[in-house]
Amino acid sequence: MNIQFNKSLRELNTFGIEVKASEFIAAHNDTELIEILNFANNNNKKIKVIGGGSNILLTKEVECLIILNRLKGINIVAETADHADVQFKSGENWHQCVLFCIEKNLGGIENLSLIPGSIGAAPIQNIGAYGVELKDVFVQLEAVHTQTLQSRVFNLHDCAFGYRDSVFKHAAHQHYFITSVTLRLQKKPVFNIEYGDIKKVLQEDYQNEITLKNISDAVIKIRTSKLPDPKVIGNAGSFFKNPVVEIELAATLKLSYPHMPSFDTETGVKIPAAWLIEQCNWKGHVAGNYGVHSKQPLVLVNYGGAKGSDILQLSDSIITSVQQRFNITLEREVNIW
Ligand code: FAD
Ligand code: NAP
Repeated sequence: MNIQFNKSLRELNTFGIEVKASEFIAAHNDTELIEILNFANNNNKKIKVIGGGSNILLTKEVECLIILNRLKGINIVAETADHADVQFKSGENWHQCVLFCIEKNLGGIENLSLIPGSIGAAPIQNIGAYGVELKDVFVQLEAVHTQTLQSRVFNLHDCAFGYRDSVFKHAAHQHYFITSVTLRLQKKPVFNIEYGDIKKVLQEDYQNEITLKNISDAVIKIRTSKLPDPKVIGNAGSFFKNPVVEIELAATLKLSYPHMPSFDTETGVKIPAAWLIEQCNWKGHVAGNYGVHSKQPLVLVNYGGAKGSDILQLSDSIITSVQQRFNITLEREVNIW
């Protein structure tokens, strides 16, 4: 077994934080994965999984066996005249899978273009963007229990998906290695272009021709215009979730802040965290080699050589100031290690 010791994780997290893992190994297929988990159990080693490393903040040395997910494969496992169920092994890159579906003219995840990371991490926070969430196309996933090594299928109900949330952030947290995810994609797709500037870009750049590829390209264009590229500036996307508050609190805040953006949801009123953070004057804040992005204040950034613990502390300060001003407690979306 090819275990590496004191392995730098700098290239394996999009924040680009320099931290070492005491032990590290890549799993390339299911057999290797079971061997690694067996080895870890027999030797009382704690494990952690890394996919694309785009939703973690490394705040200290990692004293466990890191398993890098490299399980690959894409298969159409069921098909009707209307849809195809596609099973993706969990180490596939999310955006490449979106492109695979577009190429096959299968619709449903084009709005989720350019989200970094692996397929296997997508269910963990029910990834979402531009009016679409993973749960909208989800059929099932397969996972291995890291202690018992039993395989288990989780269907939509089992996953308890919520807004950037699932059972894998609660009862099943760190108990399972997700090995595959099956999505149902549509052969006669229903386009979702109502969100943000998608329609505008389709009009301006594509003479209003609505295709899966054009929607994907429009989303890519919008995203690259606002979001820092992790290859250039280290970041993990939105650091905080958008809070969903009680109707009464939103109404009270509207009296003081009539221009506050807000969106009604089934569970309350969603207020963009970016707006709250900007109101507290954090937008573009620079503290040496880390800070708050100048175009998107929801994104905390590492300008090079920052420590994860500094970024964590900055996030604490942001939470405190938003709490004091708006009586809203921001929740971190990024996983703190
Ligand atoms: P990692 O960071 O590797 O892991 C995240 C967590 O999941 C860790 O706790 C890890 O242990 C666990 N994990 C990973 N793989 C497995 C597995 N196979 N089994 C069990 N546990 C596992 N997110 C959105 O929802 N919407 C967006 O629009 C979006 N945009 C982003 C833009 C940028 C520029 C960046 C940097 C991030 C963005 N994200 C977005 C966040 C991130 O890309 C997603 O959460 C993504 O799904 C994380 O995938 P990953 O493979 O990189 O996960
Ligand atoms: P945006 O379009 O400027 O919107 C800001 C906020 O308003 C978001 O909270 C969004 O909620 C909400 N919103 C906007 N239009 C909405 C609508 N029609 N209905 C309901 N809510 C609406 O946001 P952005 O920062 O440029 O990001 C665009 C999309 O990509 C968003 O969906 C965002 O979640 C996603 N994204 C996520 C990450 C991440 O790391 N999680 C990073 C970058 C972008 P929602 O967030 O619920 O959509």
